Amino acid sequence: MSIAPFHPTPRTLMGPGPSDVHPQVLQALAKPTVGHLDPQFVAMMDEVKALIQYAFQTENPFTIAVSAPGSAGMETCFVNLVEPGDKVIVCRNGVFGERMRQNVVRVGGEAVVVDDAWGAPVSVDKVADALNRHPDAKFLAFVHAETSTGALSDAQALCALAQEHEVLSIVDAVTSLGGVELKVDEWGIDAIYSGSQKCLSCVPGLSPVSFSPRAVAKLEARQTPVPSWFLDQTLVMGYWAGTGKRSYHHTAPVNSLYALHESLRLLKEEGLENAWARHRAMHEKLKAGLDTLGLKFVVEEAHRLPQLNTVHIPEGIDDAAVRAALLNRFNLEIGAGLGDLAGKAWRIGLMGYAAREENVTLCLAALAQVMAEARR
Ligand SMILES: *Cc1c(COP(=O)(O)O)cnc(C)c1O
Repeated sequence: MSIAPFHPTPRTLMGPGPSDVHPQVLQALAKPTVGHLDPQFVAMMDEVKALIQYAFQTENPFTIAVSAPGSAGMETCFVNLVEPGDKVIVCRNGVFGERMRQNVVRVGGEAVVVDDAWGAPVSVDKVADALNRHPDAKFLAFVHAETSTGALSDAQALCALAQEHEVLSIVDAVTSLGGVELKVDEWGIDAIYSGSQKCLSCVPGLSPVSFSPRAVAKLEARQTPVPSWFLDQTLVMGYWAGTGKRSYHHTAPVNSLYALHESLRLLKEEGLENAWARHRAMHEKLKAGLDTLGLKFVVEEAHRLPQLNTVHIPEGIDDAAVRAALLNRFNLEIGAGLGDLAGKAWRIGLMGYAAREENVTLCLAALAQVMAEARR
């Protein structure tokens, strides 16, 4: 059997991630691989760290990229910070809040769940009430941008509550980073994780993570060892410390880190505020077109994510047939509904490099044509 080289047909990626990767980021991947302890690579890692600090708007010395996707960033936070018996208030308004709860349980923590409807933001009032009822809670965990529904929660207000009650906040910023306002230091976020393949428009497989000094103190005061060897940040810290004495922990994904360096450099060049404004402007354009097509948003206007637009599938339209036609005829990927919204909604991403006018125009024209045909 002879196997041909793999040449994927290029697609326009307007789903929940991965998003369109910037051509310069793809070029960065193809640069020569060097040793991960090579001085030139070590110097680039210091720049990656400074660029992640910029993207997160933090001066936290503990700021790294975990060598694995967003889910590993999530696990890094829970496995390092939550000890057996620790009580964690977990907010659940979609798929990823539920995954946070599972992480808490797996490390032996006690999860107190605050539920909100799919499509609604996390209720600040309910969280305040839960914190009052559980004065022994140690953490508040929530998803800033819930990719399963397209809802944005008020991270600033939630972290202010966490500080007031002296609990540490753990924030999922996988979809929010680079797409909407996010200020780690100003908002007092203690542990945050993101992903490379959403609004950073890098290849999948890396997870920017940052811990506040309070979170690092909790890690250092642990009574039991971190239950994961690979994600144990007490071992990884030395590698990212930038003290010049980098030691081997695992082989860094060298070329992927070139790509992250370039994607973050592009973000810095554009400017965070400009990137947020671009996502907003492209969302407005897409929304106007979706309105014309009669497609209704799942999330109320005040809480919509510009980078993830979830709309109800109209009566009589075949979900899978429409998505297949978009992919096969227009090389356009949009996302299916997840969980409670499976088969009932489409998720149209405008993430990072995908948040461009030409993508909005293609998506609206292709959807109009395919939906008209589906109705016939
Ligand atoms: C995509 C996503 C994750 C998981 O990231 P992976 O890179 O797929 O592991 C976690 N949380 C949210 C909100 C996401 O959108």
